[in-house]
Amino acid sequence: MSGCIALIAHDEKKDDMAEFARQHQDALSRFRIIATGTTGGRVQDACPGLDVTRLKSGPLGGDQQIGAMIATGEVDMLLFFIDPLTALPHDVDVKALTRLATVYDIPMALNRATAEKLIDFQ
Ligand code: PGA
Repeated sequence: MSGCIALIAHDEKKDDMAEFARQHQDALSRFRIIATGTTGGRVQDACPGLDVTRLKSGPLGGDQQIGAMIATGEVDMLLFFIDPLTALPHDVDVKALTRLATVYDIPMALNRATAEKLIDFQ
């Protein structure tokens, strides 16, 4: 087990996240995996062998739950596939989460290309 990895994908990026998880199932299986609700469901469907802890959906507080876990030192890496082309009602939560990941200096990928690099280092 390499620690805890947090997965989040905005709606337009969920297919990408499911595909990423399928492709890197072995690497991901070495982590404890937490995810926002809908993203976690998609990852679980794509990879039935992975154990995914699903938090609340992002707009209902899931992003903030992950932020709180970062602040308490429980998250070692954040893979957050953001959609920069869609206005989101919980944009403030997105900003708060990326801010905390920066404050606590954890590896954070905001797109798939960076996630591919990070997961390769594990
Ligand atoms: P979701 O949340 O996985 O529950 O859709 C992601 C988000 O923050 O939009």
